[in-house]
Amino acid sequence: MPGTHTGNKQTQARIFHLLLAEQSLTRQEIAETLHLSMPTALQNITELLQRGLLEECGVIQSTGGRKAKKICVRAQAGKTIGIDIALHHIELVVTNLKGTVLCQKQLSMVFRDEPSWYQQLREQLMQFLAENQQDSAQILGGGISFPGIVDEAAGQISRSHVLSLQNVSLDWFKKYIPFPVVVANDANCAAFAEQSPTRCDYVYLSLNESVGGAIVKNGQLYLGDTCQAGEIGHMLLIPGGKQCYCGKYGCADAYVSPNALTTWGQTVGDFFVELQSGSQRAQTAWNEYLDHLAVLITNLHMLFNAHIILGGAVGGYMEPYLPQLLKIAENYDHFVREIDYIDVCRVKTCACAAGAAKLALQKYYMRLFA
Ligand SMILES: [Zn+2]
Repeated sequence: MPGTHTGNKQTQARIFHLLLAEQSLTRQEIAETLHLSMPTALQNITELLQRGLLEECGVIQSTGGRKAKKICVRAQAGKTIGIDIALHHIELVVTNLKGTVLCQKQLSMVFRDEPSWYQQLREQLMQFLAENQQDSAQILGGGISFPGIVDEAAGQISRSHVLSLQNVSLDWFKKYIPFPVVVANDANCAAFAEQSPTRCDYVYLSLNESVGGAIVKNGQLYLGDTCQAGEIGHMLLIPGGKQCYCGKYGCADAYVSPNALTTWGQTVGDFFVELQSGSQRAQTAWNEYLDHLAVLITNLHMLFNAHIILGGAVGGYMEPYLPQLLKIAENYDHFVREIDYIDVCRVKTCACAAGAAKLALQKYYMRLFA
């Protein structure tokens, strides 16, 4: 009987996982990529379509003139949640299986590593799901984005400069959140939100209040020996320069965090309004900012020889200024004929929470096949 013989579940999970990564493929492409015989592929794909986990999504002209139907994951077949924890607030999202954010909410909640805070998080999450008519039974798992060095293997957040914490156990999250959860560093989450079939290898530079970064190789996060890979904000940019919040002098963070632009107490958004209005002081600050950023980016490119994606609060505003940044970067990189490796982030809002939800999907999609 179809669907009952050994190995089917595993094959179906492999097909599903492939389509999560590749977005859409024909039946033949699925069979070839997974080295399945056509009858095996067809049988399993048919079952997945019947179960509502996959759907047909358009056609492509195949060789011989026949049109081949493309298959993709059915977005509504499951959901994941993403939670971004920051110093003063949390952000909640629900995403479908294609990573589309279905609903989001930001609320003020100053982090405290105490049971009452985790209890409050749980209550806020359940209220958020209820407000948006999201059925808990459909949720496969959750991802939590945290501003610190997350060591999942050791079951702890080893350090968070931003929150002045050390050795926070991940058990509280697991105890209070009523779904299986994965916890990851915030910049890693935001970086993972950018990953797609056409974006698999890159360095993500998060230009947020604390500058972070992440390295994505073959579509997966590279964490390093002690889960600290990508701490770009604390790479030395100007020896003996401005003091960073980590205590060192001259860290990149002190020069390319949005704080370098908001010295008059305004928000990042206000700064760009002022810049567009032709303000001389804003232009001077921006030129200086871009110069430091160009040094940092070209150094990263020397090391990784990969695309550098600019994200975070400043990354969201960077698009119109990219030509100016490229021109400045030319002063610092004489190893390429034309600088074409600087990109702007595609996910401009809720990037950390959306990326955390995507990590959860990658980790917990198997629950659909349990
Ligand atoms: Zn530093």
